Amino acid sequence: MTENYFDGVLKNIEKIKAVMNLNDQEVELLKTPQRIHQANIQAGGKSYPAYRVQYNDARGPTKGGIRFFNDVDEDETKALAFWMSLKCAVVGIPYGGAKGGVRVNPKELSEAELEELSRNYVKAFSEHLGPWKDIPAPDVYTNAQTMAWMLDEFEKIKKQKAPGMITGKPLELGGSLVRDIATAQGGVFVLQELIKKLDIQDPKIVIQGFGNAGLNAAQILGDLGYKIIAVSDSQGAVYQENGFDISALIKHKQENKTVVGLGKQITNEDLFALECDVLIPAALGSVITPKIAETIKAKIILELANGPIVPEADDLLHQKAIIVIPDILANAGGVTVSYFEWIQNITGHYWEKPEIMSKLKKAMTKAFDELYHKYQELGKDMRTAAYVLAIERILKAERLRGRV
Ligand code: NAD
Repeated sequence: MTENYFDGVLKNIEKIKAVMNLNDQEVELLKTPQRIHQANIQAGGKSYPAYRVQYNDARGPTKGGIRFFNDVDEDETKALAFWMSLKCAVVGIPYGGAKGGVRVNPKELSEAELEELSRNYVKAFSEHLGPWKDIPAPDVYTNAQTMAWMLDEFEKIKKQKAPGMITGKPLELGGSLVRDIATAQGGVFVLQELIKKLDIQDPKIVIQGFGNAGLNAAQILGDLGYKIIAVSDSQGAVYQENGFDISALIKHKQENKTVVGLGKQITNEDLFALECDVLIPAALGSVITPKIAETIKAKIILELANGPIVPEADDLLHQKAIIVIPDILANAGGVTVSYFEWIQNITGHYWEKPEIMSKLKKAMTKAFDELYHKYQELGKDMRTAAYVLAIERILKAERLRGRV
């Protein structure tokens, strides 16, 4: 992340101010996180800075992941919490936005120290967390085990069970089915809607990144009969003109820890420049620069990764009439199934996979239809339309509460 990460958010808000004709009070509210909690927490005898930012709670309890990573700071956490507020609003789930993190290199910590860090995070912020306050989830270098330790610590402090205080838990502790593939599946549901609207037949797809998001997207798209002609991971990129056999590709990745070795090896630059209908960045942020954007021939970009396109490249892609399905909708399947997990926890009634899949499809399709309508109404790019839609919803809730 760049040092002035939150500056990007402030610039975005200024851009939207002009589009939506926002007044100064509304702009100030959007630019200001409601609560910033900070603590120094211990693990293995060392101290690490920890954060929890609750950006906006007008639409419900706040929701957002906790990451353990070297570059975590207040600025980055604020920006991520702002985007969570927009993501929950755009997909229409009754949450505000939050984010948390600890500045630590998790690879230097033993399992016992990671447990200590997770428990101490909850000890530091327990009074601000809870199923009706703020609900964390996994993020970079945190996982279902981290959530289990955090839940256990929270329940010890509160002296009662509270499975709905955190999502992304193991199934045995109240986690939800489908959560593991939810991000990819949600992205595929919205992609299918746009493919229908544009009447693209037999789409050819390119995927950058072959981890949780990219691999599952390839699997789901392959099962739908779509042609995946190129994929990549941190080791390199591979191309198969007639489309990969996805099961063979996944087997190869599992056995060799890389996709490289099947199909023809190409460079990362070649991958972005391929003749295709859909490009899915599913790896890192800021990978599509103006130089890369110049070469892209896809009709649609589905942002499964968070922030894969730099702002200058965004404008260029819009000029080239390439439709970008923005991250705040494209990867919102994850938080949507987290919401389903929370409903199951607070009602104590657990759902089977078909029920969750059908609810996810309904939620993503509805969110897409509403966004597409706004996109056509505004005549701007889909990211701007998503920001406008989300901010309208947040400000409406703020007005109803009498806060603006
Ligand atoms: P992951 O760690 O499981 O996978 C990342 C993949 O990217 C790996 O296959 C890695 O090899 C690949 N990669 C790394 N550097 C690369 C490079 N230079 N070129 C090509 N590939 C490269 O992570 P993930 O959970 O799949 O997340 C990927 C993106 O999706 C991130 O931006 C994340 O924020 C976003 N996202 C994920 C979820 C989720 O539920 N997993 C939810 C929302 C957003």
